[in-house]
Amino acid sequence: MPQYPHMLAPLDLGFTTLKNRVLMGSMHTNLEELGDWHRIAEYFAERAMGGVGLMVTGGMAPNKEGGVLPGAAGLFTDQDIANHKIVTDRVHAAGGKIAMQILHAGRYAYNHHAVAPSAIKSPISPFPPAELDAEGIEKQITDFATSAKHAQQAGYDGVEIMGSEGYLLNEFLVTHTNKRTDEWGGSYSNRMRLPIAVVARVRDAVGPAFIIIYRLSIIDLIPNGSTWDEVVMLAKAIETAGATILNTGIGWHEARVPTIATSVPRAAFSWLTKRLMGEVAIPIITSNRINTPEVAENILADGAGDMVSMARPFLADSQFMAKAAAGKADQIAPCIACNQACLDHTFAMKTSTCLVNPRACYEVELNYTQTANPKTIAIVGAGPAGLATALVAAERGHRVTLFEAANQVGGQLNMAKIIPGKEEFHGLIAYYTRMLEVHGVTVHLNRRITADGLAGFDEIVIATGVIPRDPQIKGQDLPNVLSYIDVLRSNAAVGARVAIIGAGGIGFDVAEFLTQAGQSPSLNLAQWKAAWGVGDPLQTAGGLARNGPQPEASARQITLLQRKAQKLGKNLGKTTGWIHRAGLAMKGVEMLGGVHYEGITPDGLMISTGENHENPRLLEVDTIVLCAGQIPERTLADTLSAEGIAAHIIGGADVAAELDAKRAIDQGVRLAAGF
Ligand code: NAP
Ligand code: SF4
Repeated sequence: MPQYPHMLAPLDLGFTTLKNRVLMGSMHTNLEELGDWHRIAEYFAERAMGGVGLMVTGGMAPNKEGGVLPGAAGLFTDQDIANHKIVTDRVHAAGGKIAMQILHAGRYAYNHHAVAPSAIKSPISPFPPAELDAEGIEKQITDFATSAKHAQQAGYDGVEIMGSEGYLLNEFLVTHTNKRTDEWGGSYSNRMRLPIAVVARVRDAVGPAFIIIYRLSIIDLIPNGSTWDEVVMLAKAIETAGATILNTGIGWHEARVPTIATSVPRAAFSWLTKRLMGEVAIPIITSNRINTPEVAENILADGAGDMVSMARPFLADSQFMAKAAAGKADQIAPCIACNQACLDHTFAMKTSTCLVNPRACYEVELNYTQTANPKTIAIVGAGPAGLATALVAAERGHRVTLFEAANQVGGQLNMAKIIPGKEEFHGLIAYYTRMLEVHGVTVHLNRRITADGLAGFDEIVIATGVIPRDPQIKGQDLPNVLSYIDVLRSNAAVGARVAIIGAGGIGFDVAEFLTQAGQSPSLNLAQWKAAWGVGDPLQTAGGLARNGPQPEASARQITLLQRKAQKLGKNLGKTTGWIHRAGLAMKGVEMLGGVHYEGITPDGLMISTGENHENPRLLEVDTIVLCAGQIPERTLADTLSAEGIAAHIIGGADVAAELDAKRAIDQGVRLAAGF
C-alpha cells in the first residue's frame, strides 16, 4: 500500500487515464514569450519525468484582444503549432500528459484592444475595454475553438479553458461586470451562455477523445459575484456542454483577499470543492495552498476533490511526485508560497523561477552534474546562502563541511519562521536539515570558525550573512530600545505602545509579529476567513462576508516609520506587499513616512518632518524597535583577505542591500554548480 493511496491512484477519463490525481496547474512563467522552445520543452519534460498526472501550460491567448499583454503567446500560425509540438513530443517521450490553457483576459487584458461584456474598466488595469457586440462575441467563441483545434494539432492531450479569476468568461457571468441587456446579459441563463457556448464549440472542434478542463470560479470574492446556486448551475451546464474535468479557481485578480500567498492557510478553499462534489459526474479538481503530499492526500481522503491542483510546488521541486511515491516526502523542496521568484517575476516581465529552486525554468543552463574532481569545501554560515551552496556542492560529489556559529541551521530563516503568516519557513528549514544528512554534509553547529580552522580546504565559502545597521539615533542605547534581533531571536519583552524604526521587510515582519497576540490566523482557517472577510457564496453573491473583514484586535499600538517620503512597503513583493500593508492597516498600525528621528528619550521617540525638521513631536511609546536595515558581516572575510587566503563571499556577506533569500540561494547554487 503506497503512503498516499488517494493521491497516487490513477484517474480513468474513459478515453485516457491519468497516472495519479495531481495536476500541475497553469503558471505563466514568461518562458513562452522568450521563444526558446528547447528550454520550454526541458522545463515541462523534467516535470513529466517527475511523474505528475497532468500538466497545464501557462495561458495562451486565443486572439490579439484576449492577450494578457501585447504580444502574449498563442497558437496562431503553423510555426506556433510546430513550436508547441516540440514541447508535447518531449513531454510524451517522458511519459507525461499536458494540456494547453486558453486564457482570454477580457477586461484584464493589458492592451488597447481589450474587450469585455460591458465597457467597465477593471480597478487593476489602465485600459478601458470595448463592449463586445454580437459579432464580436461570436468571434471570441470561434477563436477559442480554433485555439483548441490548434492545440490538438500541436499534440496536446487537452486544453484548459480559463473561466475563473475574473477573466473574460467570468466577466460574462456576473452583474458586477456584465450590464448587457441582450441575450448575453440579464438573467443568469443569459450570462452563462458564453462559457457554455465556448465549451460546446471547443468539444465540436476537438472531438470526443480530448481532455477539456474548465476552470470554474468557485468563489469570486468580489461584490455581486456568483451565488452558490449559480456556481452549481454552471458546473452542470459545463459538464453537459462537454467538459472532461472541472478545475476550480479562487477569487478574481481584483479581489482584496489573498488567495495564494503564504499567509493563506493551507487548503483554505477546499471546503468549497467538497460542497460541489456530487453535483456533477465529471472529476473536480481542488486548488490553492496545497503544497505537500500530506495536504493533498488528506484533501482527497476527505472527499474534497477528485484531484488536486498544485502549481508552484512543481517549480520548487520537479520531482515532487516521484519523491512522494518513493517515500521520500521529506526530501521534497517545499514551496513556501512566497511568490518572490515566480509570480513577482512574471509581473515584472522577468522569467519565473523559484526561490528554493533556482533551476526552475533554467533547466537547460543550470545543472548540478557529478564532479570528476571532488574537492574539500568549507562553508561558513548556515543561512540560506550557505545551505544552498552546501547542498549543491555535496550533491555533486564534493566533500562539504559547514560551520555555523549558532546552535541551529537556517540563519535569518529562523526569524522569518516565527512571523505570523510565515510558518512555511519551518518546512524549508526542515528540508535543508534533512538534505544535509542525505548528502552527507559535515555540520558543525556552535562553531565560530577562525581563519586557522579553514586551512587545508580546497575552497572556502564565506556566507556569514549580515549584522544590523547602526542608525546612530540619539538615545538609542536607552533600555526602551531593542533591535529586531532582540525581539525575534531573544524574545525580549516589548511594551504596549511601540515605534518601529525602518519599514523594510524586517520592519513589516516585526510589526506583524508584535500585532499578533494568540495563534496565527494562518494556522486557523475560521480566524483567517474572519480577518479577511471571506464568507460563503451560499450567503452572499461572490462569497464576501456581509460584515466585512473582522481582524482580531492588535496586541499592541504600533507606529511603523521610515525617512523616505513614499508609501511604506513600496519595495515589498509586487504580489504580496499589498497583503502586508492591508493586514497591518486592518490592525490599526500607523504608517509614517518622511520623518526625521530627532532622538529617543525614556518617554518615547522624537520625530520631525520636512526639510527644516519641522513639527517636532514626541511619539509616546514604551518600546522602540530598530529595523534600520543590515550591513554585511565580513569579519572573517576581511581576516582571510588580509592573510591572502582566497575565499568566495556570497549572500548578505557579499551585498546586504536588498538582500533576500532568493538572491542568497541563487548565488549559492550557482557558485556550487561551478566547483
Ligand atoms: P531594508 O528592506 O533595506 O529596509 C531598511 C529600512 O531601514 C528602510 O525602511 C529604511 O528606510 C530604514 N533605514 C535605512 N537606513 C537607516 C538609518 N540609517 N536610520 C534609520 N532608518 C534607516 O532592510 P530590512 O528591513 O533589514 O530587510 C531586508 C531583509 O529583510 C533581508 O534580510 C530579507 O531577507 C528580509 N525580508 C525580506 C522580505 C521581502 O518581502 N522580500 C520580507 C521580510 C524580510 P528609510 O531609509 O526611508 O528610513
Ligand atoms: Fe513557491 Fe516561492 Fe518558489 Fe514561487 S518562488 S514556487 S512561491 S517557493
